Amino acid sequence: VPAARDRLRIAIQKSGRLSDPARALLASCGLSWRESRDKLFCYGETAPVDLLLVRDDDIPGLLADGVCDYGIVGRNVLEEQAAERAAAGKPQVSKEILPLGFGGCRLDIAVPDAWEWEGPQQLQGKRIATSYPGLLGKWLAGQGVDAGIVTLSGSVEIAPRLGQADLICDLVSSGATLAANQLKPVQTIMRSEAVLAGPVQPFADIRGELAQLLLRRLDGVLRLKD
Ligand code: ATP
Ligand code: ZN
Repeated sequence: VPAARDRLRIAIQKSGRLSDPARALLASCGLSWRESRDKLFCYGETAPVDLLLVRDDDIPGLLADGVCDYGIVGRNVLEEQAAERAAAGKPQVSKEILPLGFGGCRLDIAVPDAWEWEGPQQLQGKRIATSYPGLLGKWLAGQGVDAGIVTLSGSVEIAPRLGQADLICDLVSSGATLAANQLKPVQTIMRSEAVLAGPVQPFADIRGELAQLLLRRLDGVLRLKD
């Protein structure tokens, strides 16, 4: 049983594509913070809602361990860790609560320009480089395709040129990076954006009320946006 707490803690990306929009969104909910010297922890001033600034990949784990109550993270990262947990037989402890309307991208299969794309069956027996082995593995299984997954933590798009893989499965927004590496997107396996991730189980302490307040305000702010 997690320890009772009387403040809400939200994990956001420290520096990257989601940092500024995540902070701006929370600020537009009327929240403000006093920053610590190391800039990793921001103490909530207008409400008992604190921020923890971390790498986006760490957010699902911080939620699973109960270190943070909510997180703002790409659906791709959240779902990848959910897929990995499922594959390891671990229960899901956090879930997507609310899509936030920024950080939009796709997780696409991309193949060398010279390929003539005929469909997923063409991937049979091929080696696919990705940072998303859980999501790719699930999708391949759903297609009934048996392919090799080469897990790389970065520079996925140069793997085919280096001979590490035949094709890739990676995040795409404009497609410029793919084009620069003589690759073309042929199949989308997931549409992603930044989401609010939170607990599957409701809070048993004062955080329940704080969470309701936060969600109501987020809802109001997002409604005004579209
Ligand atoms: P960190 O140091 O926090 O690990 P990172 O390099 O993993 O940073 P970013 O490149 O800032 O993370 O991407 C964060 C998120 O932004 C992605 O997980 C994804 O949800 C979203 N995103 C939107 N467009 C793109 C894109 N073109 N490429 C990569 N991520 C994108
Ligand atoms: Zn990351």
